[in-house]
Amino acid sequence: MQMVDLKGQYQRIKPEINNAIAQVMDSCHFINGPIVSEFENNLSEYLGVKHTIGCANGTDALQIALMALDLEPGDEVIVPSFTYVATAEVIALLRLKPVLIDQDLDTFNVTADHIRAHITERTRAIVPVHLFGQTCDMEDIMTLAKEHGIYVIEDNAQAIGAVYQFADGSKKRAGSIGHIATTSFFPSKNLGCFGDGGALFTNDDDLAGKIRMISNHGQSKRYYHDRIGVNSRLDSIQAAVLNVKLKYLDEYASSRNTAALYYDENLTEVEQLKIPVRSPKSNHVFHQYTLRLLDGSRDDLVAYLKSKGIPTGVYYPLPLYNQKAFEKFVPHDFSLPIADQLCKEVFSLPIHTELSYEIQDQIMGELLSFFN
Ligand SMILES: *Cc1c(COP(=O)(O)O)cnc(C)c1O
Repeated sequence: MQMVDLKGQYQRIKPEINNAIAQVMDSCHFINGPIVSEFENNLSEYLGVKHTIGCANGTDALQIALMALDLEPGDEVIVPSFTYVATAEVIALLRLKPVLIDQDLDTFNVTADHIRAHITERTRAIVPVHLFGQTCDMEDIMTLAKEHGIYVIEDNAQAIGAVYQFADGSKKRAGSIGHIATTSFFPSKNLGCFGDGGALFTNDDDLAGKIRMISNHGQSKRYYHDRIGVNSRLDSIQAAVLNVKLKYLDEYASSRNTAALYYDENLTEVEQLKIPVRSPKSNHVFHQYTLRLLDGSRDDLVAYLKSKGIPTGVYYPLPLYNQKAFEKFVPHDFSLPIADQLCKEVFSLPIHTELSYEIQDQIMGELLSFFN
């Protein structure tokens, strides 16, 4: 058993994928082939965003987004402490200051209230992460950012396809709301390719131009470089795979939801367990099905399940503010109680597009036996 079943997913669409890859092979347009812009256009249309710019991975996407904002060394960027390291790493890499903050205990996401407390004169950007598959409360965050003249970069590596609902009832896809958004096409993400890949999204023509330029060596035209850039491309084979899989993205989200509901129904009665809390303003695309075990025995449970052949994931075991690499950005005697608590309580069960009730029954049978 695995956390994700990429093999099973591939088997169902194998002829289509193989054909798409073969077309790239025949064309030998491996870099910047027409399929790359075709996929970018299709993804823009799907997300309801003006520009999609492919790049080499989700971490590069975050770095390029920050580079496009023309920040100065020491400028502060607010970022959750309970997230994957990539979100904060690129901030430090660019000699900016990551300001690591706490988040909501129920949805695992940062809120405008958490952010507000950390805004200073030097705050230039916020990177909300739509963790595990549902969006942050983007309306509140955008309002706060506007008040302070701060950029918002959505890290949408885990919630592609999720839909956020505004107070007036209008809806937007995650990744189409901030000034810039980023995503990853790492194979196990909800929209995954067959290698590394990523993308940036924006509705701003000026930012889109900068992002394209930065991701291609700061080039304005061939061999003329207007700014320092990087080499970060989505290659044609990955774009061909993604272009096929994009058609199934909503179907994939719905299989993940079916699996999540089945877990919910059977696990909700265990008192010590807290099933994933749904945000009232976002649907969930269940990149992860993450529970909290409230009685302090999470590590025992994970070990027990492992001994029974059931894989689990602990995303994440140590908050970023306690990581050695971020030591110098954290004040003395600083703590983030919710991040600490989450790191001790969370664990994720296998969730993917190929999960059957039989496999889930097996997982839940072993899980429930731990409590009996
Ligand atoms: C996966 C992930 C990334 C990084 O994506 P890569 O393609 O692996 O570089 C960034 N942020 C979050 C929240 C992620 O889950």
